[in-house]
Amino acid sequence: MDRRTAVLAVAATVVLVGFGSGAILAPMIGGEPDDSAATTAPPNTETLALSPGQAPIGARSAMAVSNRAGVRSRPSPGSEASAVPRGARSIAASSAPPAIETALEWAAPLSRSRAPADRGRITPILLHPRQPPAAPVPKIAIVIDDLGHNRAAAERAIALDRAVTLAFLPDAEAAAALAAEARAAGHEVLLHMPMEPIAGAADPGPNALRVGLVPAEVRRRLGWALSRVPGAIGLNNHMGSKFTADGAGMALVLVEAKERGLLFLDSRTTADSVGFSAAARIGLRRAARDVFLDNEVSTEAVAAQLAETERIATAQGSAIAIGHPHPATLAVLESWLPGLANRGFLATPITAVATADDPLLAESHQP
Ligand SMILES: [Zn+2]
Repeated sequence: MDRRTAVLAVAATVVLVGFGSGAILAPMIGGEPDDSAATTAPPNTETLALSPGQAPIGARSAMAVSNRAGVRSRPSPGSEASAVPRGARSIAASSAPPAIETALEWAAPLSRSRAPADRGRITPILLHPRQPPAAPVPKIAIVIDDLGHNRAAAERAIALDRAVTLAFLPDAEAAAALAAEARAAGHEVLLHMPMEPIAGAADPGPNALRVGLVPAEVRRRLGWALSRVPGAIGLNNHMGSKFTADGAGMALVLVEAKERGLLFLDSRTTADSVGFSAAARIGLRRAARDVFLDNEVSTEAVAAQLAETERIATAQGSAIAIGHPHPATLAVLESWLPGLANRGFLATPITAVATADDPLLAESHQP
């Protein structure tokens, strides 16, 4: 091969590689292979699109930013008005976010891949950093459960600030009437669902969910319990240190809860509970207890647990405390709740601190 042939061969290779990249890139970014796009795209866009190792998302951001920056290209006969491939332009048109901070996010991969000489083009965007949001007020959700068998205690709980969530046992004769009373007073109501504790612990009550029940029986017991507490927006477990650690049983309960549009509050009666993580996997609205207010029933102990709840809310942004209708618990709450706002906290119902994101939905939205 003589010198002239060698030069021609190299030149042909360069042209083929360049063309090939464009032809491959176009379908990757959602458009069709389009010669006019490759030949008439703005120099900037073309350079970025054909950079070796350029990921599709980087190329797409580059196209979108170039379009928004007002880069125009010459229309070519028989093609659409712009020379950017149709797919790229429709991405830019449909998902180009108007906000400056979003433009900054889109421009971030661009600034890394650009040559230093081009960086000046997006500097004005970078001069407007995202403003930090104002610090939100820490939220505290108080839940009183084990309600229903003692009418006087339930009515005292209903008289608390309506931000307090109230959970009723399904076997209590007055459960439905008290739940209706609670809802009328503005409380969110939960079913306090009896579940099997570890061997030797107390009886959770009739129709409790037990490990090893056939699926149809789990659904029947849950359906019965929900019918006993009409208007419940979700459920939390009563006892359940054994059942909540059983993945198969909890999956049945949580899928049923999701189909009914309910949330699950994990009382976390055991560190082995799979309730919260299993709920997360199916995208069920969920929450988990941070503090038990009255494992020790005295006004001093309850007050100390409420202080702990405030500390967690300050650190995490929110905290969930579960208490029971003991006179000491209710008395301390009666004096603690009215001053909560002045201490810089917001009392909220359980729905306000529940996690609602759906991991499957979030996955399908990823580029
Ligand atoms: Zn309970």
